[in-house]
This record gives sequence, structure tokens and C-alpha cells, in this order.
Amino acid sequence: MSAPELKPCPFCEGRDIRWTSDKGITVNKCLNCHAQGPVARWDLHHGSSAAETMHMRRDEAQRLWETRADIPAARIAELEAEVKRLLDAIADTPERSRIEELEHQADRDTDRIHDLSDEVERLREANAELRAALNKDATP
Ligand SMILES: [Zn+2]
Repeated sequence: MSAPELKPCPFCEGRDIRWTSDKGITVNKCLNCHAQGPVARWDLHHGSSAAETMHMRRDEAQRLWETRADIPAARIAELEAEVKRLLDAIADTPERSRIEELEHQADRDTDRIHDLSDEVERLREANAELRAALNKDATP
């Protein structure tokens, strides 16, 4: 049985759409741009086998894919332009450079914490070796 022909991908117009299922979540996925959704949830019902449940999820994912409300391309372009405008607006503000400064400081602090953790571990091992050597010498 071949897979039914599904509506093309709303993002790239790709036609290679396949369903995929992992951990109880089943979606259709565009193999061209990897867009996926909507998520089909279908709980295992009493009396249904895992395979039957999988088929119900697959059918539900296909139904959701086929009945999704596509956002018109003009609206997407409008929203993308708004995002760009907002990103440009915050790009050169003092808050922006302060945020970047704090992010760099956080990275340096994280590196220092890792270095100190390594040092603590090294000292613990040296301490254990010294204790072992002392105990060996103290043994009659
Ligand atoms: Zn696509």
C-alpha cells in the first residue's frame, strides 16, 4: 500500500512528506526542509494493540496535516519584516552590549568553575593517595 498524496510543505512546497513516530508523538515531516507537525496524540486504548495505536496516530497526523490552516505567504513576509525591524532596533542599544558583556562574563565564570572543579578533584585524589601511604606506613 503506497502512502497517500499529502498537501505540499507550507514552508518549501516540498512534496516528500512522511510520517514519523517517536515516544508516542507522531507527526508528518517534510524531508526537504525538515519542517514537521502538527503533533498527533493518540493514547493506547484498552483492547488496541501497539500497532493499531500507531496506525491511529499516523492517520491522525495525516488528518491534521491535511486540515491545517496555512498562514498566507504575505502575512509571513509581514511578520518576518517586523522581526527584522525589531532585531535591528535592539542591535545597537547599550542594553544589547551590556547583555553581551554579561554573557561573556558568564562563559568565563563557567570555565573558571570547571577549572576549579578539576583542581578539587585532583586534590582529592592526591589526598586519598597520601592517606593510603600514611596508613600503609602506620601498619605494623
Ligand atoms: Zn518543507
